[in-house]
Amino acid sequence: MILIDGKKAATELKEELKQEISQIKKKYNKVPGLTVILIGDMAPSQIYVRNKEKSAIEVGLKSEVIKYSNNVEEKIVLDKINELNKDDSVSGILVQLPLPNHIDKQKVIEAIIPSKDVDGFHPMNVGNLSSGYECSIPCTPLGCYLLIKKIEPKLSGKKVIIIGRSNLNGKPMAQLLLKENCTVTITHSKTKDLKAECLQADIIVAAVGIPELIRGDWVKKNTIVIDVGINKTERGIVGDVHFKEVFKVAKALTPVPGGVGPMTIACLLKNTIDCFKRSQK
Ligand code: NAD
Repeated sequence: MILIDGKKAATELKEELKQEISQIKKKYNKVPGLTVILIGDMAPSQIYVRNKEKSAIEVGLKSEVIKYSNNVEEKIVLDKINELNKDDSVSGILVQLPLPNHIDKQKVIEAIIPSKDVDGFHPMNVGNLSSGYECSIPCTPLGCYLLIKKIEPKLSGKKVIIIGRSNLNGKPMAQLLLKENCTVTITHSKTKDLKAECLQADIIVAAVGIPELIRGDWVKKNTIVIDVGINKTERGIVGDVHFKEVFKVAKALTPVPGGVGPMTIACLLKNTIDCFKRSQK
């Protein structure tokens, strides 16, 4: 049984990115820049943005956070994005979600020029990912993919069950694993027998938001289980997977916290550098 150490993997990735940035600095005499727009004062968003900023600075990226109050006009945000789109010192733009209700999320996502869309949410990047072209890939599924590849470099023919069909997690995860020639099933809230589906899997990726939904008797031996869920309970943060039960049967499992979470931020930094590199081509 392997406990997949996301913290260690993220530290290793960040170390590689640090080296890459120092090479970029030597070659271009500048460093890639990440600009995050934060709207409102929701505590989780503030924590996420602070962590992103801290990690960006750690690896040597130029980091900027632009903050707006909860009642900022949509036009002001769109104008700022437009300005950042044209700013050569900005390689990546991220607008922290969720947004206040009066701001149209899709309009904001589509305002970011696809070449600087480090979240990979712009329809152009979504389309490119599904067509198998080079593009920004949403950070959490990219992090999951890198963790899976560490455990199982040869993915061709593997049967994957993805639980959850969100644009953020389930759908891009499926595209990444399809490209690796996996046989992918996306399950969701209307799936009839989720346990039976899970029992078919060589790899399970759970991105649901229900505490400990996936039990030990849902998982066959030698399955790799990736737990994306972050659920607040009275016992603290737990994943979508019942850790104690699944740990006994699976081949490998990510813990929550300390699994997918740290890789998400590291992948945001990777995406920023990749956007910079593509812009220099
Ligand atoms: P979402 O709410 O957008 O989607 C949840 C999906 O789960 C939906 O597709 C729904 O159909 C499916 N679902 C709901 N009930 C189900 C059931 N009983 N059986 C099967 N499928 C069911 O959620 P999301 O944004 O994809 O996030 C999922 C989880 O991942 C949340 O806990 C979130 O906090 C967490 N998350 C973690 C990270 C990270 O970095 N680790 C990043 C993003 C999200």
